[in-house]
Amino acid sequence: MALKTPEEFVRSLADLHLQIYLFGEKIDDYVNHPLIRPSINCIATTYELAALPEYEDLMLATSHLTGKKVNRFAHIHQSTEDLSKKVKMQRLLGQKTGSCFQRCVGMDAINALYSVTWELDQARGTDYHERFKKYVQYLQDEDLVADGAMTDPKGDRSLPPHKQPEPDVYVHVVEKRDDGIVVRGAKAHQTGACNSHEIIVMPTVAMREGDEDFAVSFSCPANAEGVYYIYGRQSCDTRKFEDSDLDVGNVRYGGQEALMVFDDVFVPWERVYMCGEIEFSGALVERFAGFHRQSYGGCKVGVGDVLIGAAALAAEYNGAARASHIKDKLIEMTHLNETLFSCGLACSYEGVRMPAGNYQIDLLLANVCKQNVTRFPYEIARLAEDIAGGLMVTMPSAQDLADEKIGPIVEKFLVGTCDAPTIDRMRVLRLIENLTIGAGAVGYRTESMHGAGSPQAQRIMIARQSNLDHKKELAKAIAQVGKPWDKARVKEPTAVAR
Ligand code: SF4
Ligand code: FE
Repeated sequence: MALKTPEEFVRSLADLHLQIYLFGEKIDDYVNHPLIRPSINCIATTYELAALPEYEDLMLATSHLTGKKVNRFAHIHQSTEDLSKKVKMQRLLGQKTGSCFQRCVGMDAINALYSVTWELDQARGTDYHERFKKYVQYLQDEDLVADGAMTDPKGDRSLPPHKQPEPDVYVHVVEKRDDGIVVRGAKAHQTGACNSHEIIVMPTVAMREGDEDFAVSFSCPANAEGVYYIYGRQSCDTRKFEDSDLDVGNVRYGGQEALMVFDDVFVPWERVYMCGEIEFSGALVERFAGFHRQSYGGCKVGVGDVLIGAAALAAEYNGAARASHIKDKLIEMTHLNETLFSCGLACSYEGVRMPAGNYQIDLLLANVCKQNVTRFPYEIARLAEDIAGGLMVTMPSAQDLADEKIGPIVEKFLVGTCDAPTIDRMRVLRLIENLTIGAGAVGYRTESMHGAGSPQAQRIMIARQSNLDHKKELAKAIAQVGKPWDKARVKEPTAVAR
């Protein structure tokens, strides 16, 4: 099957008849729902750009399984060049959508599972890897969106999965049958949950003895019986119901998170990639998180480009662009944004070939990348708000601007420089509002903090990867620690020194 067009993608999503709940109601026509559609448009862009010759090099890759051209989101990285192209593709999509475009979680899941299933088979004599390869080929051949789902609700964080008073807070196996397993539980704040054809489930933490039922990885269709979704709210989301395209800030695109529930879902064995092998759950978590922490060095940078551009326009529209402090703030924003990109590229260029044959990012540098992402977008957002001025949050509505009587007054008092129409000034300020405190801030700010793991998770990985013993050896060598000391070589201080 050929690559899908954006229209085919949207149609195929509608055909799934997913079970989605929003504001206490089941939503049937979800692809045309004003609150959901912008997030669908984001994923559609991953199909749209893949068909354009100018983006082919970034958006497409050659499958190592079939030799055919596939969307990079369904590709298993075959080189460090593939890894760096992934980051560049994500920056491009962040620039085009100004939003989280959601398709990366599936890409990161297949790349993590590829090497883990191979190593698991070597150790246990299982055949997970072959099953998984067939599944990846299916995703590639059909050009499907897979949703990599890792984060369980987790209940009482002080207790391991098998000791939770409510066991469903971690996805687990409730029945093993000859033909497959039955699973129950949920994945929380799941990116792109309702915009995917397929779900790939992975454990959320390293499992220990007693947690065997929770060490489970599998895939299932997004419309499998027993799977349903409860849509997550975003700040200012009901503005999307308004007829005007002004107050929403980013009218075409948006992110999406939902609570994904598995209510006794049957999964046939050919779709199971881990079942009880607790000792491999940690590696899977680490690798998926590592890939997604690399991802943030691309997507957040692309959205950062949009925000920096919006801040520069806001300054231009009110005549402040030439002020030296404005120029300096824009330089600082750029410096921070490019630092994130440098981290995303660095962990890609330092990637390594895994025993399974695929390429993985440098885990230490990927964690450093994400740790910076937990901070720099906040500073970029702060500077954007500084440049934008208070009007960003005190501006009258689109309805006021359109009103016959009040409109001209709004127009008159919100004017900036004469060559910028008031409506454009308002549009740009609404975009900054969207990205810093509105619906887009979910993707640009809070997701920068908690997506791909909260800051402490990276610090643990940085500690583990930092090889402190090697650094201590370096210091000992320079300081000559352990060398016999010749007291006789110590001379009397000279008269001058004294
Ligand atoms: Fe992709 Fe970034 Fe969204 Fe994750 S947060 S799915 S990397 S766009
Ligand atoms: Fe994310």
